[in-house]
Amino acid sequence: MRDGFSVFDAHTHIGIGLHHGRCHTADQLLAEMDSFGVDRSLAIPFPVVEDYRQAHDEIGRAVRAHPDRLVGAACIYPYIPREEFQSEVKRCVEDLGFRALKLQPQYQPLNPLSGRSDFFYETALEYRLPVVIHTGTGIPYALPSLYIVPARKFPGLHMVLAHCGGGGILLSEAIVAATVCPNIYLELSSLMPHHIHEVLDHVPSSRLMIGSDLPENLMTEMSKILSMKISPEVRRNILWNTACRLLCAGC
Ligand SMILES: [Zn+2]
Repeated sequence: MRDGFSVFDAHTHIGIGLHHGRCHTADQLLAEMDSFGVDRSLAIPFPVVEDYRQAHDEIGRAVRAHPDRLVGAACIYPYIPREEFQSEVKRCVEDLGFRALKLQPQYQPLNPLSGRSDFFYETALEYRLPVVIHTGTGIPYALPSLYIVPARKFPGLHMVLAHCGGGGILLSEAIVAATVCPNIYLELSSLMPHHIHEVLDHVPSSRLMIGSDLPENLMTEMSKILSMKISPEVRRNILWNTACRLLCAGC
């Protein structure tokens, strides 16, 4: 809890990322959560790892040890054999209890306009997993507007556009995507507070959530929502309700 609000960080990473050399352990994440007052976090592997099964196992162990604090997500390179992809998602859900699937288009170039990407969304639907999609860096496939196509094709799928296009000119795309697709949600990391007011002019807070992505962002990302001039109900939705509705069992 922070300032009387429960806090769900809907975008964090655990593990070793080969693309940037970072290492972030579950214990470090939990200590950071404690120091700020984050109640629960979605723990996602980094997109480029040595062994994706091991990365999932590490998160699975942390989730099992702290089921009230951590929710697990899978992240798998989409060009491995289809059966391998699907069996790992099955294992992550049935054995490790994961509750989301991440797509990282800047390292996992899956064209959302191509039928070749349908298996990704079909697998998420089969296991009732929301998909969290990085947007912003990694154009063209990280353009928020492209996800209107799969969101319409799979209306039962919940799609979270992480970083809202990263702010700047792509923020408008993220707003339009969420405006025309009721199954698109927006994760607000990297936006300035005035951008978030712009989002709120168009998208209900019941489809908005916060995320830190990396530990050094945690204080800034959470504080901006806590300090904005918004109603307690809107703040509660962004800080907890939306993420919990999508990612918590039994919420
Ligand atoms: Zn991320």
